[in-house]
Amino acid sequence: MTKLKSKLESILGKDRIKKNFNLSPYLTLRTETTAEYYLEAETRQDLINAKKISLKLKLPLFILGGGSNLAILKKKLTGLVVRNKYIDKKIKKKNGNILLTISSGYPVSKLAKELADQGYEGLEYNYGLPGTIGGALYMNSKWIKPLSYTGDNLISANLVGKKGKIKVVDRSYFKFSYDQSILQKTKEILLEAVFKLKKTAPQITKQHTDFAMKYRKQTQPFGVFTSGCFFKNINGKSAGKLIDQTGLKGKRVGKFHVSDKHANFIIHDGNGNPADLEKLLQLIKAEVKKQFGVKLEEEVIVI
Ligand SMILES: Cc1cc2nc3c(=O)[nH]c(=O)nc-3n(C[C@H](O)[C@H](O)[C@H](O)COP(=O)(O)OP(=O)(O)OC[C@H]3O[C@@H](n4cnc5c(N)ncnc54)[C@H](O)[C@@H]3O)c2cc1C
Repeated sequence: MTKLKSKLESILGKDRIKKNFNLSPYLTLRTETTAEYYLEAETRQDLINAKKISLKLKLPLFILGGGSNLAILKKKLTGLVVRNKYIDKKIKKKNGNILLTISSGYPVSKLAKELADQGYEGLEYNYGLPGTIGGALYMNSKWIKPLSYTGDNLISANLVGKKGKIKVVDRSYFKFSYDQSILQKTKEILLEAVFKLKKTAPQITKQHTDFAMKYRKQTQPFGVFTSGCFFKNINGKSAGKLIDQTGLKGKRVGKFHVSDKHANFIIHDGNGNPADLEKLLQLIKAEVKKQFGVKLEEEVIVI
């Protein structure tokens, strides 16, 4: 056993660290990459300990949620990759509303469905959104019909700060906007989020989840390797429409292609060469710039 692995295990638990671990199954785009060191976090303490030991050993730390907004092109992520499987949910009723405390590893879509079934309103349009609460608040993930963001009904959150200390922050701390939250700058770890939700009739919230899923199925490719919309909309202009109008739907480089159904979705057939994805991204950007004078920016985090 390497020295570093045993140092990590002395804090994170015996036999819990995997070396040179294949991350591909945990990335919705399924690019091939490995983690130098890998841990599955099951509890908040695992996340806290991972931060503390990574600081002590000066190891880079990467928190992986559902891996649905990532295009990892590097062959290897150095340091410690922690896949967040911390699952916990508490609901308190207060003055006709509910206060939901939810762990960062909780799958968003599952949560949206569970809440909608109870008539708890505020997160139901996240039904069908892949990934975890941590990833959704890091990105302030959005829904377009009606325009809403995961951060909208957040009240407060518990974070692991830069130095490994726990801090409690309110919504304003996150500086939420389109595809933005402060976590992208601070790299603090979300432990739990507290949302205030309204109680309404379950028929209403269920209508919303049904609509969200139906709309996704109508407009997005399903059952494929993808990381969703690759580029951000620019000043309200849909990146997907711009790409569509360039005529690039179906354009292929190696094992990556632009979806025929939704031009902002890039699909991977599997075992693709990351250089081909980069070529396809450059081609899309160049064509949109040439035809519309618009500079596209990646929404997906490219590493
Ligand atoms: C089919 C499909 C449909 C999609 N539809 C939408 C959509 O409708 N709207 C939308 O906005 N996006 C959409 N996406 C993109 C993606 O699902 C969202 O951005 C999602 O919220 C990312 O969550 P994740 O857990 O997968 O994050 P990951 O991809 O695992 O991580 C994203 C970033 O968040 C950070 N992170 C994750 N957890 C934590 C934590 N606990 N603390 C701190 N940082 C953390 C990671 O380090 C990483 O930098 C879609 C993707 C796919 C594949």
